[in-house]
Amino acid sequence: MFEDKNNPKEIENLGEFGLINHLTSQIKLKNPTSVKGVGDDAAVIAPSKNKQIVVTTDMLVEGIHFDLIYTPFKHLGYKAVTVNLSDVYAMNAVPTQITVSIAVSNKISIEALEELYEGMLLACEIYGVDLVGGDTTSSNSGLIISITAVGEAEKKEIVYRNGAKENDLICVSGDLGGAFMGLQLLEREKQIFNENPAIQPDFSGYDYVLERQLKPEPRQDVIEMFKELGVQPTAMIDISDGLSSEVIHICTQSGVGCTIYEDKLPIDPLTVSTAEEMNLNPSVCALNGGEDYELLFTISLEDYEKIKEQKRVAIIGHITSDKGKYEFVSNGDTVHELTAQGWNAILKKEDEN
Ligand code: ADP
Ligand code: MG
Repeated sequence: MFEDKNNPKEIENLGEFGLINHLTSQIKLKNPTSVKGVGDDAAVIAPSKNKQIVVTTDMLVEGIHFDLIYTPFKHLGYKAVTVNLSDVYAMNAVPTQITVSIAVSNKISIEALEELYEGMLLACEIYGVDLVGGDTTSSNSGLIISITAVGEAEKKEIVYRNGAKENDLICVSGDLGGAFMGLQLLEREKQIFNENPAIQPDFSGYDYVLERQLKPEPRQDVIEMFKELGVQPTAMIDISDGLSSEVIHICTQSGVGCTIYEDKLPIDPLTVSTAEEMNLNPSVCALNGGEDYELLFTISLEDYEKIKEQKRVAIIGHITSDKGKYEFVSNGDTVHELTAQGWNAILKKEDEN
């Protein structure tokens, strides 16, 4: 009989329960709110006194959200967890538990799943989260990972998308466009490799943008900074689809407009040089690239003094009363309309040029 070198047989031998046990038996619960983890019909979570619970879920589908050709399983597991934690932080809440559901195709080896869980458990370790349950099934069409994250915050701390007010400052953590450049680089090398498998990809010098794509870190530090500085953002969202799209989400839900300045966009020098190398406009990549998992938030003017010295935060514009009007002031002082294009549009536009 045909033998796959990945030896998918092993999973069959273990069976579903053996597999779950194999992947989760090392887990030790660390949060007092995690009362019961893997092993019963449901996990039990005890909410802390006076806290509200936030819940968020994200699904990652092979071929749509990730490409196993260039994504190491450990990174994939790590990212699958951190993108969920990013959503919890975007509520100004602290993540405490996750559940992990996987649909596994028969081409995935047990070693690959072990690496996937290694990455997930590493993220859990770093961000102080317990893996308390999940579901396991088979798939005929590639790997699917669905993670649900639970977090908590005091009622008055929770930040929604709909609280931005006229004159509020629009702020963003970290830098933008890097994850998109990392993806473009991986896609470029994949194409070269597909055309000539003898050519090995050379990624030297591109570490930062590759890391932005393959191993994004959620901004736990920014949430801690808010607490330390006594800043309560008026609205917040994490940047998964691209700055333009997220700013517009905040504005539509808050019933306001905005002005964003190109010269204020935080872009890493490596993102700029990689974009230029690929004939892409770095600002357009920062606006529409996505997957940076930075936090975009608005603060009232009174909080400006508290935040202005923070190197990890850039003030990129302000909220206006012009509901539905989203302005982008380019370096040439021309005013453009900000549109939520997403990354498809970036590549299309550059092709037309
Ligand atoms: P049920 O049949 O009641 O859904 P399962 O057999 O699916 O129970 O799951 C048994 C236990 O293992 C539950 O605690 C569940 O949360 C956990 N579990 C199942 N799959 C996974 C997984 N992929 N990762 C972590 N925990 C899992
Ligand atoms: Mg189940």
